[in-house]
Amino acid sequence: MKVHRIAVLAGDGIGPEIMQEALKVLRVVEAHDRARFELIEAPFGAQAYFDHGHPFPETTRAACDAADAIIKGPVGLSYEATRQIPVDLQPERGAVLPLRARYNTYANFRPVVLPRALAQFSPLRPEIIGEGIDILLIRELVGGLYFGAKTLGTDAQGHRYVEETLRYDEVQIKQVLKKALAMAQRRKGVLHNIHKSNVLKSSVLWNEILEEMAPDYPEVEIVHMLVDAAATHLCLNPRQFDVMVMENMFGDILSDQGGGIIGSLGLMPSACLGDDKAYYEPAHGSAPDIAGRNIANPYSMIGSAAMMLEYSFGMVAEARQIWAAMQGVFADGFSTPDLAQLGGAAETISTQDFGDRVAAKLREAL
Ligand code: NAD
Repeated sequence: MKVHRIAVLAGDGIGPEIMQEALKVLRVVEAHDRARFELIEAPFGAQAYFDHGHPFPETTRAACDAADAIIKGPVGLSYEATRQIPVDLQPERGAVLPLRARYNTYANFRPVVLPRALAQFSPLRPEIIGEGIDILLIRELVGGLYFGAKTLGTDAQGHRYVEETLRYDEVQIKQVLKKALAMAQRRKGVLHNIHKSNVLKSSVLWNEILEEMAPDYPEVEIVHMLVDAAATHLCLNPRQFDVMVMENMFGDILSDQGGGIIGSLGLMPSACLGDDKAYYEPAHGSAPDIAGRNIANPYSMIGSAAMMLEYSFGMVAEARQIWAAMQGVFADGFSTPDLAQLGGAAETISTQDFGDRVAAKLREAL
């Protein structure tokens, strides 16, 4: 049987708690002889900095290099605690961005999905949810402002200044647009291109390249939308969207809004795809406000594991069964406290209980 080697980076805050539940689900898949997983746990994030002097230690790099795929929990501490770490070694700058750069994981798939049956989790009215929300938000992940040169300095007048560079080249733009066009082709044939070409020249080039590529995808209708307008449309009429594509920072922000419209960031898994390697992580952060209390929603982490099965190992059927098992737990009237706040659940359950119930449903289904 095929053995898949997975680097497991549990991360900080709620990371280890929700990672346990994702591993629980992977063990069920393994117990049903669908695959073998060799798990290599490795430190990553703020705790790795305190324990090993670096948020992405050399041993972790080696583990990731040797792995077929990487599954990663969120990293980071509260704003105050983060300031104990030198700026360049804080978890995003010192670990997450280098991980993305190392494997050129340029396409970040962030599904924003809420079936009609779970409409009660959303702060939006049921008539806006309609038959349900099913958006694939694709965020460019290795370019733009987050990766450009940065300078903090003091000018001749003694005023402090900062300069950050937003740079994209056509190779970077083409590779993510190619993925987005292909996904639009496979889904409903509509691609919303989110940009800011009225202000940013990076968007002008982005749109120009998209226009050049479009004739190769005659069955895909391209809808151009300014990012500020897209933020409004996501609230007022999210069902108009199927596949959305955008540059790095726009995607970071709009995908959190995606979590908001479906009820919780805890419902936001993601896949970070490169041509040679991929890693999988929840779209949210380490939620220090609820860490260590066994109340985090592990859906995002279990969903990220499901995306790993699908995109890295071709285990599409097993991935679907994991999604169905999670929806089944909600349909039985259970949810973690983040969703219950919106009045959606009959009974509130813990992180571990959610994972146990998903595992039990999956055992029945496999
Ligand atoms: P956050 O995403 O951690 O939390 C925002 C809110 O959503 C909080 O109220 C939190 O409790 C809630 N939330 C998030 N995930 C949840 C889940 N699974 N279940 C239930 N509730 C959930 O954002 P933040 O508080 O701004 O950031 C915390 C830390 O995470 C910071 O250090 C930040 O830098 C880091 N961060 C890391 C990543 C990453 O690892 N890729 C991404 C974003 C933020």
